Amino acid sequence: EAYTPAATRYAHTDYRRVGRSGLRLSPISLGLWQNFGAGRDPELLRSIVRRAVDLGVTHLDLANNYGPPPGSAEENIGRILAQDFSGHRDELVISTKAGYTMWDGPYGDWGSRKYLLSSLDQSLERLDLEYVDIFYHHREDPETPLEETMGALDQAVKSGRALYAGISNYSPERTRQAARILGDLGTPLLIHQPSYSMFNRHVENGLLDTVEDLGVGLAVFSPLQQGLLTNRYQQGVPQGSRARTSGSLSEEKISDPLYQERVRGLSAIAHDRGQSLAQLALAWVLRHPQVTTALVGASSVQQLEQNISALENLTFTEDELAAIDEFAVD
Ligand code: NDP
Repeated sequence: EAYTPAATRYAHTDYRRVGRSGLRLSPISLGLWQNFGAGRDPELLRSIVRRAVDLGVTHLDLANNYGPPPGSAEENIGRILAQDFSGHRDELVISTKAGYTMWDGPYGDWGSRKYLLSSLDQSLERLDLEYVDIFYHHREDPETPLEETMGALDQAVKSGRALYAGISNYSPERTRQAARILGDLGTPLLIHQPSYSMFNRHVENGLLDTVEDLGVGLAVFSPLQQGLLTNRYQQGVPQGSRARTSGSLSEEKISDPLYQERVRGLSAIAHDRGQSLAQLALAWVLRHPQVTTALVGASSVQQLEQNISALENLTFTEDELAAIDEFAVD
C-alpha cells in the first residue's frame, strides 16, 4: 500500500554536521552491507527502511558490492526508493562506494579512474537514481596514484553523478594526502568511513585528530562489532544470525572466553545506565564530536528501533568511561 512518512520524523533527532561542511546527517545511519541481499524478504527490507525514515534516519549507506550477491543491495534499495520514497529523494542521503572486487578483469577492483567511474555508473543504474549523495573510495589502493583516484572522485562530483566525495579505510597519512588533492581540485573531502567499536579502537590513534584538523566528518562502521556487542549471542549462535550465515563474524570470536567476559562486563554497565548493550555501544562511539554518524546494520525492525533509542542517552560520566575502558579492548 502507499507509504507516507511519519509527520514527526524530524522532531527527535539532533542532526550532526559532517566536519566543516554544509551537510548534516542523522547520528544513526542504516547500513546495508549484509542484510539487504537477494535472498531476503522484500517486505521485511521495505519495513526496515520505512521505520528508519519514520524515526529520523536520513542516511542509507551502500556500496557496489553489498548483497550478497554483489549489487543486490543497491537493486533492493532502488526498488524500495521507487516504491516508497520517489517523492522524498531530497530528504535522503544515499551513499555508495567502489574499491573492492566487483567484476572480473583488471577494471573491476581497487582505485583506477576506469573502475571508479564505470562502477558508479553501474551503481546508479541498479539504484535507478540520477545521482548519489556521497561517493566513496572504499579502500586504499597501494598501486594507483592517489591523484588518479581522487581525480575520479572529483570527476564524479563535477559530472553530477555524486554531490560529495568520501574515502573509507584510509590511514591518517593517506587521509591528509587525499584531502589535500581533493581540496586543490575544488571538491573538498566530506567524510571518512573507518571501523570503530568498543572492541576496535584504532581510530583513537590518530584518525580522530586528523579528521578534526581537516574538518572532515566521520561515519563509523560496525559499531556493534557485527553483533558481538549486542545480546544476539547471549545464548549461543542463533540460526540466521550473521555468525551463522556469513564468514565476516567468526564463531570462535563469539565463544572466546576473553570476549565473553568483556561482553558481560559491558552488559552490566549498560544495565546500570538503563540501556541495552547495543545502545551502550552506539552511544559510546557517538561520544566523540568528530563522529558524525554510526552506520548500523539491522536484520529486523526491532533491532533498528532499539538501536535508534540509543540516542535517548548519549552522555557519559568520567567514571562510566573508565569502567568501560576495562572491557573495551581490541
Ligand atoms: P553492526 O556492528 O551494526 O552489526 C550489525 C549486526 O548486528 C546486524 O546485522 C545484527 O546481526 C546485529 N544487531 C544489530 N542491532 C542489534 C540489536 N539491537 N540487537 C541484537 N543484534 C543486533 O554493523 P555492520 O557490520 O552491519 O556494519 C554497518 C554498516 O557499516 C554496513 O551495513 C555498511 O554500510 C558499513 N560498513 C562499511 C565497511 C567499509 O569498509 N566501509 C565495512 C563494513 C560495514 P544479525 O544480522 O545476526 O541479526
